[in-house]
Order: sequence, then C-alpha cells, then structure tokens
Amino acid sequence: MKSKGLFIVISGPSGVGKGTIIERLRKILPDVRKSVSVTTREPREGERDGQHYYFRTLTEYQQMIADGQFLETAEVYTNFYGTPKDILFKQLKDGHDVIGELDTLGARQVKKSYPESVRIYVLPPNLDELERRLKARGTEDEDGLKRRIGAARRELDEYRTYNYVVFNDDPEKAAERIAKIVEAERCAVARNQDIIKGLLR
Ligand code: 5GP
Repeated sequence: MKSKGLFIVISGPSGVGKGTIIERLRKILPDVRKSVSVTTREPREGERDGQHYYFRTLTEYQQMIADGQFLETAEVYTNFYGTPKDILFKQLKDGHDVIGELDTLGARQVKKSYPESVRIYVLPPNLDELERRLKARGTEDEDGLKRRIGAARRELDEYRTYNYVVFNDDPEKAAERIAKIVEAERCAVARNQDIIKGLLR
C-alpha cells in the first residue's frame, strides 16, 4: 500500500534562486514531479506548452476560474498563474510527490484549501545578497529592481503561511535541506495511518 503523495509548495522572493534549487532537488529526489501551472504570460524562448506551463489567453484563464479548475490562482507582476486542481489531485492520489513554485498569495490559498501541503519558504541570507543576485541576473532595469526588492521586503512578512524556512546560502545545501524535509514529511505518522492500520489488521 502506498500513502498519498505530498504537495510541496516552494515560495521565495524573486531572484532568491528557487529555480536552481528545484532543479537540484529533483536530482536528489528524481521521483518528485513538478506541478505544471497555467499562466497568461507569453512563453519565453525555449518554453513549451504543457511542459513549463500551460500557456492560456486571459479569456481562457478566466473561464477556468469560473469552472473552478484552480486550487489557487494569483496575479504575479501583471500576469495570472494558477495550479490546476484535477491533475494535481490525481498525481497525489496515485502516490506521487508534487512540487509547485507558487507566490505567497497562492501559498496562502493552498494553506487554507489544502492544509496538509508542505509549504517551504526560501529566503536569501540577507537582502543585500538578493539585490546582488537580481542585478547579476540582468533581467530587470533600475525600476524593476526597486520594485522586486520592495516586494521582497513585504513578502518576508508572509512567513506565517509556511511550515519551513530554508536559507539559500548555497543552492546545493538548500536543495539538500529541502530533500530532508521531504523525507521527514514522508515519515509523518499522520500521513501513514492507513498503512499502519493495514499492518495491524
Ligand atoms: P515566471 O513568470 O518567472 O515563470 O514565474 C514568476 C513567478 O510566478 C514564480 O516565481 C512564482 O512565484 C509564480 N508562480 C508560478 N506558477 C505559479 C502558480 O501556479 N501559482 C502561483 N500563485 N504563483 C505561481
């Protein structure tokens, strides 16, 4: 008998290195699947529909909201992003662990609607480091940079939404810490009750 999969939510300010950490985490735990979100933003070069995101028009997205297809949905920097419910729940039911990269608004909705989720907040060791990383990435102009640093400060106050905090002093170490959290959560008694009852039968 297999227990239900874990829904692992990863959030963190823009530039903190979530993408790299998730990539490394999946090398440590290759069975963990990545949740594919729906978004209204334009695909970037190399991004494929159904692989990186499901790219949808605003009208299509709004219809999906009306049809109750999202576990959570949020507007992030003028675009919409959401986690489609049916695909996720099927994977969890089949025993797969799924990881979703969500903003803090989305994570807050997940905390309410799916409290057994494992919500992890990735933070930079300090804000100067975040500014340095955002500058090095070179995707933001001066205004964009200020906006993202300001947003990061406000976002820090959202820490209560999460069960765990992981400081990204080094992406490899941060990924290892998250892998350990996942391993520990897999062993939680509450998640294994059916298996234990089966043993007692
Ligand atoms: P990007 O446009 O760079 O791919 O993603 C920007 C941000 O959107 C991510 O860092 C993440 O915080 C947020 N995001 C991506 N997918 C989802 C989702 O399904 N739900 C929510 N709430 N936020 C998402």
